[in-house]
Amino acid sequence: MNDNVPPVSPRKPDLIVLRDAAEAAPPLIDRFQRRITYLRLSVTDRCDLRCSYCMPERMTFLPKKEVLSLEELYDLATGFIARGVTKIRITGGEPLVRRDIIDLFTALGRRLGHDLTELTLTTNGTQLANHAEALAKAGVKRVNVSLDTLDRETFAALTRRDSLPQVLEGIAAAKAAGLKVKLNAVALKGTNEHELPDLIAWAHQQDHDVTLIEVMPLGDVEEERLDQYLPLDTVRARLEERWTLKPLAYSTGGPARYDEIAETGGRLGFITPHTGNFCSGCNRLRVTATGQLYPCLGGGERVDLRAALRSDAPEANLAAALDEALRIKPEMHHFRMDTRGADPALARHMSMTGG
Ligand code: SAM
Ligand code: SF4
Repeated sequence: MNDNVPPVSPRKPDLIVLRDAAEAAPPLIDRFQRRITYLRLSVTDRCDLRCSYCMPERMTFLPKKEVLSLEELYDLATGFIARGVTKIRITGGEPLVRRDIIDLFTALGRRLGHDLTELTLTTNGTQLANHAEALAKAGVKRVNVSLDTLDRETFAALTRRDSLPQVLEGIAAAKAAGLKVKLNAVALKGTNEHELPDLIAWAHQQDHDVTLIEVMPLGDVEEERLDQYLPLDTVRARLEERWTLKPLAYSTGGPARYDEIAETGGRLGFITPHTGNFCSGCNRLRVTATGQLYPCLGGGERVDLRAALRSDAPEANLAAALDEALRIKPEMHHFRMDTRGADPALARHMSMTGG
């Protein structure tokens, strides 16, 4: 057993052993010399929306007993931090529908300034008004809110729920609590395609950055993927007819490439898995709410961290599982968006791995 790995035995999230970073076990470096410093941790596969590009209306969710407890999620995060992860994004499903999730934020937040530099989340915003202050108190500084449209009817059709007012209230509450909000919008052919400039203009007026995302063929969603797909090079060309886009060196450590729009003064990011591969700079690992580690969002490779965590020798087995993940992390994703009627590139929905 490696003595440098902190204990991962289940314990209450508020009981924290802070360790000196110098004690850390070997850093997470994969076969392609990419250093992993960023963990995206899903805390539930459940959601109160049903975005048509993410999941079907009648989605089958996992039995709750398969999902890791908050203590286990905390212990897992601790195992990653010990190996040099400095940034954690809590995601889902919808992370804010998980009961007592603020306890996990509070526990992890106590590590900020010690062995964690950033704790953040991606949310659909429906529950944000209830939690914004608690998140800020826990040490969260930035939040990504997914918002594809400002039109109530389009929102209701797209998410299959009439929740736009709650989301807007949540965004306002986050801002009022001092959180920096970034909006994520999936660019969708024929759905929000013509609204994107208005969404961007509105966001920039409110001082929110925006990132546009190309839809990815993950999971069966009962719709033809190719009918949803809007390449971002097309969107960019259209935006350039209206605005001046100036490339920025700015990065949040993710795959987005940013521009500043001269006329609005705001930042606009582009996440382009299809029209511009970004895998060479990948610095992340993703873990589902059941403790399955997927080294690549677009690959089927998987390592079972729950089995390691619940084994007789959790520390050693977790360390070995992380080494295995580094060994099998692929060089790049291979999903494509060019065949009508094709099966999903992966059966796994985005709500499993958290985007
Ligand atoms: N429920 C939260 C939310 O919507 O922000 C967090 C989880 S959601 C799976 C994370 C991100 O993935 C969201 O920004 C969502 O728009 C995006 N997403 C979901 N399915 C996608 C797909 N098939 N292609 C591209 N982005 C997708
Ligand atoms: Fe839920 Fe997020 Fe998927 Fe929409 S994108 S259904 S909000 S998990």
